[in-house]
Amino acid sequence: MAGGGAFTITLNTGAHMPVVGLGTWKSEPGKVIAAVKTAIEAGYRHIDCAFLYENEKEVGDAIQAKIKDGTVKREDLFIVSKLWCTFHAKDMVKDACSNTLSDLKLDYLDLYLIHFPMGFKAGPENLPLDGNGVVIPSDTDFVDTWEAMEDLVDLNMVKAIGVSNFNRKQIEHILNKKNLKYRPAVNQIECHPYLTQEDLISYCTSNNIVVTAYSPLGSPDRPWAKPNEPNLLEDPKLQEIAQRHKKSVAQVLIWFQIQRRLVVIPKSVTPERIKKNFQVFDFQLSDEEMKSILSFNRNWRCCPMEWCVNHKDYPF
Ligand code: NDP
Repeated sequence: MAGGGAFTITLNTGAHMPVVGLGTWKSEPGKVIAAVKTAIEAGYRHIDCAFLYENEKEVGDAIQAKIKDGTVKREDLFIVSKLWCTFHAKDMVKDACSNTLSDLKLDYLDLYLIHFPMGFKAGPENLPLDGNGVVIPSDTDFVDTWEAMEDLVDLNMVKAIGVSNFNRKQIEHILNKKNLKYRPAVNQIECHPYLTQEDLISYCTSNNIVVTAYSPLGSPDRPWAKPNEPNLLEDPKLQEIAQRHKKSVAQVLIWFQIQRRLVVIPKSVTPERIKKNFQVFDFQLSDEEMKSILSFNRNWRCCPMEWCVNHKDYPF
C-alpha cells in the first residue's frame, strides 16, 4: 500500500507516530541528504536522528528541501532526536536540544529521547575513555536529566519526550519520581528476532509507553561487527518465511515489528532498499509464523556498549 505513511500509533500525549521511520545512524553526511529525500518521496514521514550520528545538518537540509518543494509540510513529519550521554547535566540539556534543532533547521522536535541512561564526562569527546578503554562516567542521575527534558516540553521545543536503552527498573525510577510532570512516551530499544525483548515490551505497553525497535535488520553495518556473529538477513528460516510471502527478509523483519504493534526504524542509504523497506503494508504473518520468529530469540545484541559495562547505569 503506497499510503503506508498513514499507519501510526498513538502516544500517551495523543500524538500520532508513524510506525515506520528512516534510521540515520552511520548514514554518511554525503549520502544522507539523498536518503532522507528518497524516503520522504517514498512515503516515510518519520525520521530517526541523533546528535551522535554527526549528520543532523544534512538531515535538516533534506527535510527543508522537501518542505520547500511542497512534497510535505512540517506538521506531516515526525522528527525524532536524542540527547547524547555527555549532556546529561541538567544545565546542559536545553543547549543540547537547541543545537539539534538548529542543525535540523526545525523549531520543534516531535520526540526527544535520552539516548542512554548513562551519563558520560562532559567535553568534546562523545565517548570519553580512560587508558583502559573504559568509559568515563559523569556524576549525573538520569532522573534529574528527565526533569530537564520535561522543561523542553514546557518551552515548546519538543512535543513529546522519551527514553532509549532504558531497562524496566530504570523506567520505574522515572515513573516513581516525585512530582513527575510528563511520563515517557517512548522507549527506543534494540529489537529483532535474535533479541525479541518480550518482557520489556510487555512492561512498556502496560504502562502506555510505545516501543520503537532499533537495529531491526541486525545492523549489518555496525562498526564492531565480527565475521562469526549471527546474520539475520541470511537466516534460512527467515528466508523461507520471506519466500512464502514473496517478500524479502528485510521486509519480513520490518513487518514483524509492526504486527507486534511496535514502531520500527530500518536504516538505509540505498534508494531501492529505502523504497522496498516501506512496502510492507500488503501482507500479514500468520500466528504460527509470528510465534516461530519469536522463538529465534537468543538474547544477542548488536549494540552491547561494551565500554560501559561497569557504568552505574549500564542497562543491559
Ligand atoms: P539496521 O538493522 O537498520 O540495518 C542497517 C543496515 O542494513 C545497513 O547496512 C543497510 O545498508 C542494510 N539494509 C537496509 N535495508 C536493507 C535491505 N532491504 N536489504 C539488505 N540490507 C539492507 O541497523 P541500524 O543499527 O542502523 O538501526 C536502525 C536505526 O535505529 C539506526 O540507523 C538509528 O537511527 C537507530 N538506532 C538507535 C540506537 C539507540 O541507541 N537508540 C542504536 C542503534 C540504532 P545500506 O544503508 O547500505 O543500504
